[in-house]
Amino acid sequence: MKLIDVSVPLDARLPTYPGNAPVDLEAVKRLARGDSSNVSTLHMSAHGGTHVDAPRHFFDHGAGTDELQLDLLCGRARVVEITSRGGVTAEDLSGLDLSEDVRVLIKTHNSRLWGDSTFHADYIGVKESGAKYLVDHGVKVVGVDYLSVEVFKTPGAPAHHILLGGGTIVIEGLNLRDVDPGVYEMFCLPLRLVGSDGAPARVVLRRS
Ligand SMILES: [Zn+2]
Repeated sequence: MKLIDVSVPLDARLPTYPGNAPVDLEAVKRLARGDSSNVSTLHMSAHGGTHVDAPRHFFDHGAGTDELQLDLLCGRARVVEITSRGGVTAEDLSGLDLSEDVRVLIKTHNSRLWGDSTFHADYIGVKESGAKYLVDHGVKVVGVDYLSVEVFKTPGAPAHHILLGGGTIVIEGLNLRDVDPGVYEMFCLPLRLVGSDGAPARVVLRRS
């Protein structure tokens, strides 16, 4: 059983979405300083690195991350590759057969950006038409390979509203660089953060 880890390493070099707290592992106790053990405190955004967006992210009364169904986050997933650079549209997706897909992970040029600790505002997001297409075609989990599903600073955040409002869970911050398009088995397990709008997750794929 070979697992492909599509989560990004959480360290200080990880790019963060503007305004979000960077990852910081604070040394509280250290053996090297004469303490009885090594103990760290983790500081990070709930939307740092590979993470899941819950409906609560854009809807006050929406489900928090602890209420998301793990059954939905684990199972058959299709990795598709979109090579256009202007944002994923319905047209980009219409050539793909997603008729049997509940989980779709979108690989783009973004996956090549992870080696750089600078946040790239020109990352490829999902446009309003693309989000509508996914919801209309019964996709319940959408994964993207940078820090937001939204094209940077799109007024009204239509992709988030359409997806999360349409009952589709969003996984952000995947690294799909070494993953070929195709069908996999996905395991996505977000931290059980009660009432949170987002939660870091470990996500792995297994070729099915
Ligand atoms: Zn998020």
